[in-house]
Amino acid sequence: MQHEKVIVIGSGPAGLTAALYTARAQLNPLVIVGPQLGGQVAITHEVENYPGFPEGLSGPDLVEKMRAQAERFGARYEYASVSEVDFTHGRPFTVKTDNGKILLADSVVVTSGASPRKLQIPGEDEYVGRGVSYCGTCDGFFFRGKDIVVVGGGDSALEEGIFLTRFANKVEVIHRRDELRAGPFLQKRAFNNEKMSFVWNTVIDEIAGEGAVDHIVLRDVNTGETRQHPTEGVFIFIGHEPNNSIYKDQLEMDEEGYVITDKLMRTSVEGVFAAGEIQDPIYRQVGTSVGQGTAAAMSLERWLSETEAEEEETPANEATPELN
Ligand code: NAP
Repeated sequence: MQHEKVIVIGSGPAGLTAALYTARAQLNPLVIVGPQLGGQVAITHEVENYPGFPEGLSGPDLVEKMRAQAERFGARYEYASVSEVDFTHGRPFTVKTDNGKILLADSVVVTSGASPRKLQIPGEDEYVGRGVSYCGTCDGFFFRGKDIVVVGGGDSALEEGIFLTRFANKVEVIHRRDELRAGPFLQKRAFNNEKMSFVWNTVIDEIAGEGAVDHIVLRDVNTGETRQHPTEGVFIFIGHEPNNSIYKDQLEMDEEGYVITDKLMRTSVEGVFAAGEIQDPIYRQVGTSVGQGTAAAMSLERWLSETEAEEEETPANEATPELN
């Protein structure tokens, strides 16, 4: 069975940074890439707030730079997703992938990230790819000249909404309150954008159409009144949920399902560290994920060298005294 010193699960900014640091520490990490190399930033049109790039750069560009930098120091990539882990039977840990591999690992960095939250309304799942989308960068092009709506009032909704005005004829932002959560800079840009308008205190009850989305049912949250509203696209940006399904019963999580870590990025299992959005419901920036990936890798490196030194000093029969 393939036995690794370090396995990094996930390849977003946290994972690629953990890979870079553990690679530079000569630990030869194996990165299990997951469904999308780079994670969410790979489908981000432009990253304007990552230091060192005053003109901004595209998400895919940043991912490729991070991937190549970690590879230069010895990181290796397995283009598969993790289907199962066993962290509860001691070391080495077991990591199974969906391409049939069973890997053993002395240590693991969990960086599985988060996925877009769903509205969970009738028509949402049915019309994904036929008018419903969670990614402006991926799908904006298909909505040239069309009237579309964006759902949400945070930074993502406004940033993506502004981007979508490049293609769409009209972008209406549907928000459940009368005040945006997004920061003032994005609010100003959105309010000044001629193609954007806002529908306040309103939620979508249903997405419908003939083959593809052609209308939605809106509800005023104050009056309860509903009405049909024609639209050809529904872009949903209402936050994210941690990708934690493989860690249930393996790692301690908070009530929202985020993996719990301490200041050293240690999880509830010794030897398993976590970084990025799987354990961060607050900041969720490329910059903070990079910082957390750095910290996790440094803690891991220190822990692994101390553990290996202890194991070398302690003969095996002393380390596991027999009970009688
Ligand atoms: P967010 O800040 O959590 O905003 C989610 C928005 O969706 C909120 O306006 C919320 O309404 C609304 N919402 C949540 N559940 C809903 C539901 N079931 N139905 C209708 N509306 C719902 O998420 P985000 O915009 O994805 O941002 C996440 C983090 O990334 C934030 O820290 C943000 O600052 C950051 N971010 C930064 C940038 C940037 O700096 N350029 C870009 C993107 C994201 P309420 O306001 O009523 O709760």
